[in-house]
Amino acid sequence: MSRRKLVYEGKAKILYEGPDRGTYIQYFKDDATAFNNQKKAIIDGKGVLNNRISEFLFSQLNEMGIETHLIKRVNMREQLIKAVEIIPLEFVVRNIAAGTFSKRLGIPEGTQLKRPIIEYYFKNDELGDPLVTEEHIDINNWATIDELSLATETSLRINDFLIGLFRAVGIKLVDFKLEFGRIWKDDEKRVILADEISPDTCRLWDVKDERKLDKDRFRRDLGGLMEAYQEVAKRLGIMPEGSNIKEIKSGISKNFKIKK
Ligand code: UDP
Repeated sequence: MSRRKLVYEGKAKILYEGPDRGTYIQYFKDDATAFNNQKKAIIDGKGVLNNRISEFLFSQLNEMGIETHLIKRVNMREQLIKAVEIIPLEFVVRNIAAGTFSKRLGIPEGTQLKRPIIEYYFKNDELGDPLVTEEHIDINNWATIDELSLATETSLRINDFLIGLFRAVGIKLVDFKLEFGRIWKDDEKRVILADEISPDTCRLWDVKDERKLDKDRFRRDLGGLMEAYQEVAKRLGIMPEGSNIKEIKSGISKNFKIKK
């Protein structure tokens, strides 16, 4: 039992109060959910891989001047993060048709879009995270027009960067979801990237055979989810060839070095 104060428990992560004011600890669980929580499973070791992959991607974004909530990864399952007030929207960026986009619009999966597009979803489990317009967002005060345009522009920059990063390791970035949060310093407000970027929140296809290396393996009962996530980590160069799934599951891999 943890003695830390729980701030929020979500489907795949838990937030605890952090060691300092304005910080949280983000804990990655092994829980997998899909279809608004109707399908559930525990996948041993998934949280460890998502923690590492998300840390890697957020660090790269921090380095290129896109501020994220990540301060540092502290162990196999946890990150120290800046506490933010989450904007209750999911920003979905799409490069290739898939998932609900294909279903809703009748566009076959795999169709290359002529340019990246962005969709907004209102984060609300009871309503099943509905697709919403800028006007819905404005009249409900979920975000200001300024926050929305800043987060949209940042999402597209992140997309450009991630397309290149994944392409270099033989992976197509089909689509992904981002979340942003507000943070105040003195009287100044900033909107920064929050949550995670991992195979749970992206569609990642192998360039050669379009093999799915993401959560669709769970959603569509394809099996081999851990192998796929491990493959992503290996290709990104953040999981040495030596380590294996058993070590990740038990969380004792000595190759899995904790960054200071
Ligand atoms: N996504 C997510 N969380 C959500 C909904 C979507 O991370 O609550 C991600 C999903 O993994 C995919 C992209 O956003 O990479 C687009 O998802 P889509 O709208 O096609 O819905 P899904 O098929 O995931 O229900």
